[in-house]
Amino acid sequence: MGRSTAGWSFLVVCASLMFLLTSSNVLAQGGDTSAGHHRGWRGEMIVASKSISVGGATIQVDFAAGSLDLSQADVVAWVEESARSVAKFYGRFPVARVRVVIDPIADDSSSIHGTTWGDMGGFPAVTRIRLGQHVSKDDLKDDWVMTHELVHTALPDLPDDQHWMEEGLATYVEPIARAETGRLSEERVWAEFLHEMHNGEPERGDRGMNETQTWGRTYWGGAMFCLIADVSIRRQTNDKKGLRDALHAVVDSGGGIDKDWPLSRVLEIGDRATGTTVLTDMYAKWSEKPVPVDLPALWKELGVSAGPNNGVVFDATAPLAAVRESITAAR
Ligand SMILES: [Zn+2]
Repeated sequence: MGRSTAGWSFLVVCASLMFLLTSSNVLAQGGDTSAGHHRGWRGEMIVASKSISVGGATIQVDFAAGSLDLSQADVVAWVEESARSVAKFYGRFPVARVRVVIDPIADDSSSIHGTTWGDMGGFPAVTRIRLGQHVSKDDLKDDWVMTHELVHTALPDLPDDQHWMEEGLATYVEPIARAETGRLSEERVWAEFLHEMHNGEPERGDRGMNETQTWGRTYWGGAMFCLIADVSIRRQTNDKKGLRDALHAVVDSGGGIDKDWPLSRVLEIGDRATGTTVLTDMYAKWSEKPVPVDLPALWKELGVSAGPNNGVVFDATAPLAAVRESITAAR
């Protein structure tokens, strides 16, 4: 629902901002937060700033001028909870420092849009959140955007034709990370996958992932790549390793958003960590050709079926029930 429209719109926002940034060269003045007002990297007036520590990282939350119904404390708590989910999933926060700029949208009821860049203005990562003036505490409780943006810090900046890997990984990891700190139930994670993952299937005329830059292929096609990779790694290792182990290794090797690495390096580090060649093999196929997935058969194997209220029912006797539990299990 919200994800489709919001996801699409901030993809567009991201592209237009990139243009703005590279063409006008207005970059951040990082670091100086103590002395009252200062300018953000897009020239907006920063009126308040608070730094928090999460998972070994310092997160600087800067408020641009503008009215919000929410208190600054509520917004900082939301950033902190989102960062905790990401730190829990990765074992620590993926980069040492992040700047989060909160930019209010006047007269807007519920918009939460995010964009994240690497290596900007002296920060390894900068996230800009455009926050509707009338967004409520309840909206923040249900929000996925902040967590999604912070997951982006855990992967090197990739070339444009591999944007699907950046968005797909964030789409896949975000609900799992929220579940691990109790912000989302396991049922909701799987309900979202069950109801939305089909958006990632190749449609008629689609080519490989690197050449089909539609919303469905970018967000859910990328997420489907991650799910299939996760299940394949777990099948091949008797559920001893998963995609998470690959992602931990990438972060532990310093592969955050502040780096420009070729994707092959990311995949090799990931494969080495799981003792498989799943990521490299899958990428070779998926990047070049459309690869349809039999999702109904996969849900059956994982023991996930549609339940009441848009939810799911789990089958503990399904052949891959343990794999499903491992994917969403907190450690
Ligand atoms: Zn994203």
